[in-house]
Amino acid sequence: MNTTCIMCPMGCSLTIEEIGGAITVKGNGCPRGEKYGRAEYTHPERVVTTLLKGAFGGVVSVKTDRPIPKDKIGDLLAWAASYRLERAVSTGDVIEENAADTGANIVATSDFIMK
Ligand code: SF4
Repeated sequence: MNTTCIMCPMGCSLTIEEIGGAITVKGNGCPRGEKYGRAEYTHPERVVTTLLKGAFGGVVSVKTDRPIPKDKIGDLLAWAASYRLERAVSTGDVIEENAADTGANIVATSDFIMK
């Protein structure tokens, strides 16, 4: 597996292989790249950012408060597409706990005022 380390702007190209149950990471310029490569290979996760619509118009930008498994991102985005915010929120407010059963909370990254 080939990927790019996103832990710093260097963007090292990583080659990750599993041979006989042992995972090796090559191409990393520092130890953080090895840790990142192993995580990408075994259980890739991402912090997700998206928008939620207000029930009466407008949108609020949000993000998960922790990385979620990549295979749960589709569930989270489907939940976000159907959700309608019915209250004002401030940046940092938790809008939904355990959104789409991902284990992550959805947090506002902008203020939202009801229209
Ligand atoms: S391996 Fe280290 S130096 Fe390379 S991109 Fe990742 S964090 Fe940066």
